[in-house]
Amino acid sequence: MIRMSDYDSGDEPPDGGSSEPDDVFTYNGGRVDPGESANIRYGISETYLGDPVRIPVTVVNGAYPGPTVFLSAAAHGDELNGIEVVREVAHDWDHSQLHGTLVCLPVMNVPGFLAQERYLPIYDRDLNRSFPGREGSTSARRMAHRIFTNFIEPCDLGIDFHTSTRGRTNMLHVRANMSDPTVDRLAKSFSSNVVIAGRGPAGTLRREATDAGVPTITVEMGEAHRFQRTLIDRALTGVASALAEFGCHPDSSVHWPGWRTIIDDDDEKTWLRADAGGIVDMKRGRGALVEEGEVICTITNPFKEEDEVVTVEAPFTGLIVGVLENPVVYPGNPLCHLVGLSPDTRTALQRERRPESSQSEL
Ligand SMILES: [Zn+2]
Repeated sequence: MIRMSDYDSGDEPPDGGSSEPDDVFTYNGGRVDPGESANIRYGISETYLGDPVRIPVTVVNGAYPGPTVFLSAAAHGDELNGIEVVREVAHDWDHSQLHGTLVCLPVMNVPGFLAQERYLPIYDRDLNRSFPGREGSTSARRMAHRIFTNFIEPCDLGIDFHTSTRGRTNMLHVRANMSDPTVDRLAKSFSSNVVIAGRGPAGTLRREATDAGVPTITVEMGEAHRFQRTLIDRALTGVASALAEFGCHPDSSVHWPGWRTIIDDDDEKTWLRADAGGIVDMKRGRGALVEEGEVICTITNPFKEEDEVVTVEAPFTGLIVGVLENPVVYPGNPLCHLVGLSPDTRTALQRERRPESSQSEL
């Protein structure tokens, strides 16, 4: 049974210190002992009114020893699917058999979340380019620093949830630096069909955490401003599978997604971009397998003039991982993210799918 406590970061901190045994979770202002769970509102900044900006954090410290894993979401304030994943893990799951500690950060970018915007509303700074942060620097880096030092650095592993940028959607997929063996293991255990390999841009939570010795993956899922239940359920399966892989739930098993492709730098992949401005008629959706030369979309003007229609074809056979939802483009705007598949992967994917389910929610 996990005991639950509830306190603000401004409360009198319980006795803390660096000499705690490994299985006590400590942060600046408090501690969470084995077998305990705490809901924390942790101050990371102040508003124009001088009031605290506090992020919600739930630390679930299991009764049994094991790794410390962070689950984070809404570094981009309008990316909501991950919030529900992290909340359900923190509050709906039975943690009585948990081996290790879960550090659940459902909303990291609180100002962006309140404004329902991607960036921090202060000069549009990107919190997910501000890690690991720095004391005495910009507002974004100070916030990042407080999150990073208290709740990321003490962990052994991490999963950061995102969605596509507003107006686009993507398949559930993992982004991970597969040259790190533990990141590779974490990425594969998450039970995603698609893993895109790469270190990630400087300042992203996954890259900076991994570089700081906390192997971390990003999970991309769906679109901004939505709760998409099918994707949330698939991500919850992924979390359970990853926790099983690392021994947090020794009686559970790792889930195999049926087929998997790992896209690295040498593989065929491209963002197809519009060469004309106009209104997009998208023929294929997220998760569709398209053949080389197949029409993915057309771009037309308001008069639908036949001789002005621009047809966009697949440059190679592949999988549509990300796609436009808002059907209007300027020249240069992305239309879809297409990745190539090996013949084996393609066969496995086709075997798994019935013809009528090729547009199913992935
Ligand atoms: Zn994001």
